[in-house]
Amino acid sequence: MNQQQKLIRRAAEELVKAKRVAAFTGAGISVESGIPPFRGENGIWNKYNPRFLEIEYFEAYPKICWENIIKMFYDSIATAKPNPAHDVLAWMEKGGLAGFEAVITQNIDNLHNKAGSEVVWEFHGNSQRVICMNCGEQNDADKIDLTKLPPRCGKCKGILKPDFVFFGEAIPIEAGERSFWLAENVDVMLVIGTTGEVMPANMIPFVAKRTGALIIEINTAESIFSEKITDIFLQGKATDIMLELKQILSLNSLAQEKN
Ligand code: NAD
Repeated sequence: MNQQQKLIRRAAEELVKAKRVAAFTGAGISVESGIPPFRGENGIWNKYNPRFLEIEYFEAYPKICWENIIKMFYDSIATAKPNPAHDVLAWMEKGGLAGFEAVITQNIDNLHNKAGSEVVWEFHGNSQRVICMNCGEQNDADKIDLTKLPPRCGKCKGILKPDFVFFGEAIPIEAGERSFWLAENVDVMLVIGTTGEVMPANMIPFVAKRTGALIIEINTAESIFSEKITDIFLQGKATDIMLELKQILSLNSLAQEKN
């Protein structure tokens, strides 16, 4: 057994022992579904100005923001399917891992829901909904005509905004509260595919660590968390590592059934 296999086995043992587990995911978990992350090679920030995601800029220039946001997110998310890493998290929740409680995600791509995860706290909202900036009416993004920009509310003709959190906007209250409650109460937090650059989401693993949780991190590269709080760093693609974890967890539950 090589070093990486030993680490994955240790991570699996900790996951099995834990009474309460939550996953905290970032853009990296969806890279293998074809959605580019913000940072790194092929990252969105290499091509687009972050201003398009600032709420004040959107309020002033909704048309140009929408044009760019469609290219940044909607084009890739429209065709994206959950990958095995999303699937394994859904499997854990459905009984693959007894203590698994929830996914907290920074992602806005809806892929955890599509994979079948039921308890998903969307810390930054969801691009598959739009919200009227005037009357607050929400709608599914795929019911909106995006050929004429900016799209307008069917009820009051107000400007529609993607229902994800722009820079300068507040975190959705319930998702924020639930995420920090979980952070304070989990025994293990599985941190997958995030640089930890975005505040205040990046506080979640730090709170978990401070309140006694073990941090298992899966990432192709080191992050803000790796040096400071990660207990077990599993370097690699989210799909590969999650499938290996699933294999060990499945064998473990078979062994328990036999005993
Ligand atoms: P980020 O772009 O800052 O970093 C991506 C991270 O994923 C990096 O640490 C990278 O090393 C890692 N990574 C890349 N490929 C990976 C793989 N195959 N397996 C595992 N890890 C991999 O992303 P972030 O930290 O999540 O940034 C937060 C912001 O990005 C959030 O606000 C989120 O809304 C936004 N975002 C979301 C999406 C999405 O919904 N899919 C896409 C782009 C950006």
